[in-house]
Amino acid sequence: MENQNTSNNEFIFIVRCGEVALKGMNKPYFERMLLERIRKLLKKFDGVRSYRHEGLIYVRAEKFVDGITTEEESRERKNAIIKEIGKVFGVASISPAYECESTMESIGETAVKYMFEAIEERGVKTFKVEAKRADKNFPVKSPDIARQIGAAVLKGCKVLKVDVHNPDVRLFVDVRHDKSYVYQDKIPGFGGLPLGTNGKGMTLLSGGIDSPVATWMMAKRGMLIEAVHFHSYPYTSPRAQEKVEELAGIVSTYCGRFKMHVINLLPIQEQIVTNCPEEETTILVRRFMMRIAQELAKATDCGMLITGENLGQVASQTAEALVVTDASVQMPVMRPLIGMDKVDIMELAQEIGTYEKSIEPYEDCCTVFLPKHPTTKPKLDRILASESKLDCEKLIADAIANEEIVNIYPV
Ligand code: ATP
Ligand code: MG
Repeated sequence: MENQNTSNNEFIFIVRCGEVALKGMNKPYFERMLLERIRKLLKKFDGVRSYRHEGLIYVRAEKFVDGITTEEESRERKNAIIKEIGKVFGVASISPAYECESTMESIGETAVKYMFEAIEERGVKTFKVEAKRADKNFPVKSPDIARQIGAAVLKGCKVLKVDVHNPDVRLFVDVRHDKSYVYQDKIPGFGGLPLGTNGKGMTLLSGGIDSPVATWMMAKRGMLIEAVHFHSYPYTSPRAQEKVEELAGIVSTYCGRFKMHVINLLPIQEQIVTNCPEEETTILVRRFMMRIAQELAKATDCGMLITGENLGQVASQTAEALVVTDASVQMPVMRPLIGMDKVDIMELAQEIGTYEKSIEPYEDCCTVFLPKHPTTKPKLDRILASESKLDCEKLIADAIANEEIVNIYPV
C-alpha cells in the first residue's frame, strides 16, 4: 500500500501539554519553555526535531540514523525517546502517531496500515475508532469519520471485528487542517509545569528517600533547583557523599544540571554536643542546617527552602519540632511531602528512579551524635537559651566559608 506521507522513515510523537494549556495569556510562554526543555533533553539523539503547532508539540525522529540499522535498534531508539520526553515536566501525555494527508482516503489507508501492525505485533482482534476534527471545515463530521474509517479498517483487515465497549485497540483519528494523525497509545507523562517557570529553591538534600522526592516535586511545579548537602567528615565517609552526588544526578535528569553546596557540619555538631543538653542535639542541628541553607539561598537567588520533612515521621518532624525548626529562618520552607504516607513516598521514589540509590546503606550526618532520647516536644525559648551559649553567626559563616561546590549533571 502506497502512502505518500513521511511517517515511513520518521517516528512522530504528539506531545500534549496538560496544565500548560490552561495558562491563558501566558500559554505561549509556557509552551515555549516546554519546547525548550524537550529540545534540551532530546539533544543527545541525532535526527530529532520538535516544534509547536496548534496547541500541541510534535517531535519527529528519523527511524534510522548512524549506528541504528536494525528494526530492533530503531524500536529501542523510539522507546528511549519516549522515555526522555516523559521526563519533561509539563508533558501530560505522548502518543506515537502516524501522519497522513487530511483526506478520508489517506486517513483510511493509514488506519489500515496501523491496524496491520497491531495485528502482527500484538495479535489484536477487536478495535474501535474515535475521531476528532480540529479543522471544522473538514467536510465529514467526527462520528462519520469514525464510522467510515472503521469500515475501511474492516475491509482492509478481514480478521478484525469492531468492539465498541472493550476493544483491544482504541484507534484515535485527529483531523487537522494540514495533516491528520492516527494513533493508539496515550503514554502518560508526569504533568506539572515546565522547568524555569516558577522561581528557584534551595533544597536540603540528604542521601535518604524523602528529600530527593521532595526536590523532584518542587521541580515538577516548574521550580529551578540549587542544593545543599551536609556531612560530618570524617565521621561520614567520602563514599557517603558520592552516593548523594549520584542521587542528585538522578534528580538532575528531571530538573536539569544544578549546583550542590557541600558543607561540613562537624564543627557545629561538636559545639552543640559540648555546650547544649543532649536531648536537644537533633533539633539544634536542624536549625543550623536551615540557617545555613537560608544564607546560601539568599546568595544564589533562591526564594525558598525545600525539605523532605514529613509530619510525625521522626522525632525532629513532630508538629512541635517543625514549629521550632521553622522559627530558625525567615524564608518560606516548602515541605511537599508533609502530608504523605511513607509508603506513597517510597512508591514515588521508585517511580522516579531514586529509591534504589537512596536505600544504599551509608552514614548520614544526622545519625552522628544521635541523642538517646531526642526531645519530641521542643520549646522554642529553651532552644534559644541553648543557642545563646554558641556563637551561631560565626559557626554559620565558617561553615559556609569552607563549603565545597559540586556541579551535578544528569546521569
Ligand atoms: P530523608 O529521607 O530526606 O533523609 P529523613 O526522613 O531521613 O529524610 P531527616 O533526617 O530528619 O528525615 O531529615 C529531614 C530533612 O532534612 C530531609 O528530608 C532533608 O531535606 C534535610 N536533611 C537531613 N539530613 C540532611 C543532610 N545530611 N544534608 C542536607 N539535608 C538534610
Ligand atoms: Mg535523613
